[in-house]
Amino acid sequence: MHLARFPRIHLAHLPTPLERLDRLSEALGGPEIWIKRDDCTGLSTGGNKTRKLEFLMAEARDQGADLVMTQGATQSNHARQTAAFAAKLGMDCHILLEDRTGSKEENYNQNGNVLLDFLHGASAEKRGSGLDMNAEMEGVADGFRAKGHNVYTIPGGGSNTTGALGYVNCAFELLSQANDCDLVIDHIVHATGSTGTQAGLVTGLKAMNADIPVLGISVRAPKEAQEENVFKLADATAEKLGCPGVVAPQDIVANSDYVGEGYGFPTPDGIEAIHMFAQLEAILLDPVYSSKGAAGLIDLIRKGHFAKGERVVFLHTGGSVSLFGYMSSFGFESNLKSAANS
Ligand SMILES: *Cc1c(COP(=O)(O)O)cnc(C)c1O
Repeated sequence: MHLARFPRIHLAHLPTPLERLDRLSEALGGPEIWIKRDDCTGLSTGGNKTRKLEFLMAEARDQGADLVMTQGATQSNHARQTAAFAAKLGMDCHILLEDRTGSKEENYNQNGNVLLDFLHGASAEKRGSGLDMNAEMEGVADGFRAKGHNVYTIPGGGSNTTGALGYVNCAFELLSQANDCDLVIDHIVHATGSTGTQAGLVTGLKAMNADIPVLGISVRAPKEAQEENVFKLADATAEKLGCPGVVAPQDIVANSDYVGEGYGFPTPDGIEAIHMFAQLEAILLDPVYSSKGAAGLIDLIRKGHFAKGERVVFLHTGGSVSLFGYMSSFGFESNLKSAANS
């Protein structure tokens, strides 16, 4: 298995740091918590999609694309990182944004990732929820093609076998860092959505025979559906890498207990996780993904799921820009008022 055989544009700031979270570990009194800082991949405030886009955008360039398209929720981190990557390569970018929450708030609809999409020069159009967004996108792409554009379309979250290579690469990187600092990793925990992160990570770890279990905390789908979808992509990624069958269905484990009301709706335990990470470790999580992943980590530690003395790596997948789209979820109005009156 040799990743250099696949086209790639090196744009991410790699390797991302691997750090120990002393204050959070102490506050929870359970395992030693480490963090892999994929919120620091560098591109337009970073995040996990940048690793995937290194491989996807290389394919777009090699196919001579002048326009890239992708789709996601209104506060999509993936759309923002795609818009930024396209800007860097001098390509046009067009995004379809799905209204998954029905929020009418100005911050949600215009601030955070949406602001950055436009700053990077992307154009966007909106869709209601519940459509087959990849099919919608292909329809719009055909319209651009009829006008003479060479369009490269990227599925939601950049999750296909090409994008998953970015997380195969992350598995190599993480293991190499752990080996260099004598860190025996007992568990990896992260938020899972469109599946590419977990699929690539597990495929890379299995291919290296690392023997590290990965737990994906679902932000949307129920456990069984999420595990099935991650497995399908992992299996196809292993095939692409020349190690077919290296991932077994039981290697894919998801937990959907922390979704709450649904995708894009913050949860009370997710908000608590945002406060804990911000105040104990000066690390910013996001309300849609990493906070739910961290809420799962924190709750499972409190329930004794991880033994004291074990070492757990939380993969921070980024997304903090969407905090600015979710300002009202934090209830800081009274703080602001008393600050203004003092
Ligand atoms: C997309 C995203 C995820 C989920 O990764 P998938 O590869 O889609 O499963 C997690 N966290 C953040 C911040 C994301 O933007």
